[in-house]
Amino acid sequence: MPYSRQQIINRVYAAGVVGAGGAGFPAYLKLQSKAEIIIANGAECEPLLYSDQYLIVQKPDQLINGLRAAMAATGAARAYIALKAHYAEAISAIEPYLERLPQIKLHLLQDFYPAGDEHSLVYEISGRLVPEGGIPPQAGVLVHNVTSLIQIGEALAGKALVERAVTVMGEVKKPQVIPVPLGTSLAEVIKAAGGPTVDNYALIRGGPMMGQLAQGDEVVTKTSGGIIVLPQAHLLVGKYSLSPLKQLQRARSACEGCRLCTDLCPRYLLGHRIEPHLMIRALSYELDMTPYFSSAFLCCQCGICDMLACPCQLSPRALYMAIKREFARLGVQNPHRKKPENPHPDRSHRKAALSRLARVLGIGPYMVRPALNTAPLMPDSVRITLQQHIGLPAEPLVAVGEPVKRGQLIAQPAKAETGATVHASIKGSISAVTNGYIEIKV
Ligand code: SF4
Ligand code: SF4
Repeated sequence: MPYSRQQIINRVYAAGVVGAGGAGFPAYLKLQSKAEIIIANGAECEPLLYSDQYLIVQKPDQLINGLRAAMAATGAARAYIALKAHYAEAISAIEPYLERLPQIKLHLLQDFYPAGDEHSLVYEISGRLVPEGGIPPQAGVLVHNVTSLIQIGEALAGKALVERAVTVMGEVKKPQVIPVPLGTSLAEVIKAAGGPTVDNYALIRGGPMMGQLAQGDEVVTKTSGGIIVLPQAHLLVGKYSLSPLKQLQRARSACEGCRLCTDLCPRYLLGHRIEPHLMIRALSYELDMTPYFSSAFLCCQCGICDMLACPCQLSPRALYMAIKREFARLGVQNPHRKKPENPHPDRSHRKAALSRLARVLGIGPYMVRPALNTAPLMPDSVRITLQQHIGLPAEPLVAVGEPVKRGQLIAQPAKAETGATVHASIKGSISAVTNGYIEIKV
């Protein structure tokens, strides 16, 4: 690796790379941890998403460069690239590089959900258990999404993060994966995929299991991996539309206490003290709620409980999310730090097969292989948000009327450790600057 640890961290900061598969944690901060093992997470375990797989095929060299840089920065002696066993093209793209890199190995995963959950991934690959409510570095492991590692590889070459590969699926004429400049509207992306095939549709940003409802005027950010277009009457749209209050009323009246939500919960199966059926019981009977409520900190929001497990269509996840929001508002800290001793003995039999998931989610007709569109979308304008990452929003460095080039730095955090830099994703001139976004028009 021709770069020092500090050079790697500096370049990744300068490029504005953040965790592509999660909430957008700045990558340069993650690289400052120490680790024994790095895992490149290419599980892409949500149905209908293909962006990571396609990007690996296009840029295997950058993935390897990014992974080696992460190893050099963190001191990790070993790395694993975790892919599903049936990602044949991605595996073929990577294998030739591994012949001369014995410290990096492929780890092939079964086709279950959520194979890409960090805690599951660490256990599957290293046999180590991350403490409940904790993070992988506490087990000596760092997990980076493969897209983030590719972006780190590009950052080393001086390339700023200005676009995302986005999978557009569902009710569109041409399902595809397409490179999209950051700040492009979702409506523009859907148009590039041939437009919707139904009149009355709803959008889900992300995958069907962990996504959220979105509007066409929202924009692509550093953490946008997918857009799914569904008929307004689709059951997923109905599930995502219910308010927490409605969810609570339904849970109180309909929960039959079967505990399937607990028995299939991936975190419970790893030995964490999370039992959603007890949280619902406490809510229903207004029992002493503290221990049941604080288990909200252990929920990874995977959606197995509401999308797959519950026979009554209830959503323990939505209730846990509402509790977490309330805890955040009140400044309550996570009290759970125990390291599980063993996973549940039945864990391996209770993994959710993806084929079953597709059936219960009602997305079978959309399970097609999308086309790869290598020509980037060219919007006339972009609205680049200043907070695409965990931390404080970046502060604008440009003014209305100023010309900008693609890749030019346009906003940065007041202090480096509080956020991520932001760059122009198209060439044009600045047409608006607010506290929330910078707009560029061609
Ligand atoms: S969303 Fe449900 S299944 Fe997933 S971790 Fe949370 S409680 Fe468990
Ligand atoms: S699976 Fe549904 S009905 Fe069964 S205990 Fe959980 S929330 Fe209640």
